Amino acid sequence: MRFPSTTSEIRLKPPVQSMRPEASYKQASGPGTLQQSQPNVSDLTMEEAHSGPKHESHARHQQVSASHHQKQIEQEKRLQERLRHIRYRLVVLSGKGGVGKSTVAVNLAVALTLAGWKVGLLDADIHGPSIPTMLGLEGSTGHVEGGELHPVESHGLRVLSLGFLLRSQHDAVIWRGPLKAGILRQFLSDVAWGDLDFLVVDSPPGTGDEPLSICQLLGKVDGAIIVTTPQKIAGIDVRKCVTFCRQLGVPVLGVIENMSGFVCSHCGKVTPIFQTGGGLRIATDMNIPFLGSIPIDPKIVEACDNGEVFIIKDAASPTAKTIREIIDKIVARVAGTHQAGSQSPANVKEASMMRIAIPLAQGQLSPHFGHCENFALVDVDAESKSIVKRENIEAPPHQPGLLPPWLSERNVDIIIAGGMGRRALGLFAEHGIQVVIGAKRGTPEDIVKNYLEGNLELGQNVCDH
Ligand code: ADP
Repeated sequence: MRFPSTTSEIRLKPPVQSMRPEASYKQASGPGTLQQSQPNVSDLTMEEAHSGPKHESHARHQQVSASHHQKQIEQEKRLQERLRHIRYRLVVLSGKGGVGKSTVAVNLAVALTLAGWKVGLLDADIHGPSIPTMLGLEGSTGHVEGGELHPVESHGLRVLSLGFLLRSQHDAVIWRGPLKAGILRQFLSDVAWGDLDFLVVDSPPGTGDEPLSICQLLGKVDGAIIVTTPQKIAGIDVRKCVTFCRQLGVPVLGVIENMSGFVCSHCGKVTPIFQTGGGLRIATDMNIPFLGSIPIDPKIVEACDNGEVFIIKDAASPTAKTIREIIDKIVARVAGTHQAGSQSPANVKEASMMRIAIPLAQGQLSPHFGHCENFALVDVDAESKSIVKRENIEAPPHQPGLLPPWLSERNVDIIIAGGMGRRALGLFAEHGIQVVIGAKRGTPEDIVKNYLEGNLELGQNVCDH
């Protein structure tokens, strides 16, 4: 598949060397384009959009569909494996663009590295990838080694942005939803993030499909930081962001009111040129923490435009101090009293051990997750792809919202189910449990074995309500 646009071709820079075939990037026939060599979710959708599956013979369609499922499963496994090495996943959200979301994401990520944490920064703002400019990385490309795209190292961070793949920063990305979801998925599954304490994701603005994809792909999101501006109208967007997070079960770490007053570059006095305090009011109304206000400081624009990090460049300024205080609050909320480097993500859990839960009815996977008779708890060693232990436990009486904490208390890492509603998916994400949906009837052993081998056949979410 190529990465096309609907109205014009997006020309992507080739990474240094092609990725392994299943990892999707290879030099395409056209100059400077990247091509995906294997179909994934977005490929099929695009193919169907152009030619339609009716034009394929039944056998061919089945073949494509089987290989498509296989690719999906393999990518899902890679995604889960990457995520297991990321300790805290943070998303920076805003109701609309231009409010300083990327500025906050960059300064937050750099402050975390300065505090000694291992940090990745993912610029998921596909339509306005500004992080390469803010970090002085224009012209950088992803480096490909061992079949994986490696993030660009800068300021102690591992950084990835679509901006590294675009031929020119002036190119506009005009992709349909499935393509965007596909690239976001690959940014997580096919990129060598390594062990990270924090992955900071600069989300696309708004509460549409792309932020939704990001949160779902991340599985467990440890917290969202919502950036807004002081104007009253911005309050509506913040409310939408908070509702979005609540629906997905993403904890809101707090609201930052950016561009709150103007710092005079001569005397340092802050003048409230717009009404201020909107962020605090909304935070109080919506019962979420208020993290602080950052004034409009011309030095921030200057630093961003010059590819410098404001909290380093103007470390001694009152605005940098304010930003650091905000970041301290974020870290305290996420990481509590943990010290940087005290526990690397790889040590959080015995790396290759996982507990998988499967809802059962009469010894086989039950399509009715919330009403199953019991659960199979299967302990596996993902490295040797073997089942270490298996037990059945009786499901608790049906009660909305009970299963996520109940399974979490039983140390479940992954659920393999036939289907699940969106609210339940959000609740499991909140409890750090990954959910694989669309599994078909079968015994727990067969399902787990196929899952570990990458052969688990997945269909539709049978209960997506
Ligand atoms: P978003 O990610 O929300 O689209 P950006 O972080 O890209 O917004 O910021 C948009 C512009 O505003 C950038 O030029 C940035 O330097 C500038 N900016 C952000 N916050 C401030 C601030 N507090 N003071 C001055 N300029 C700011």
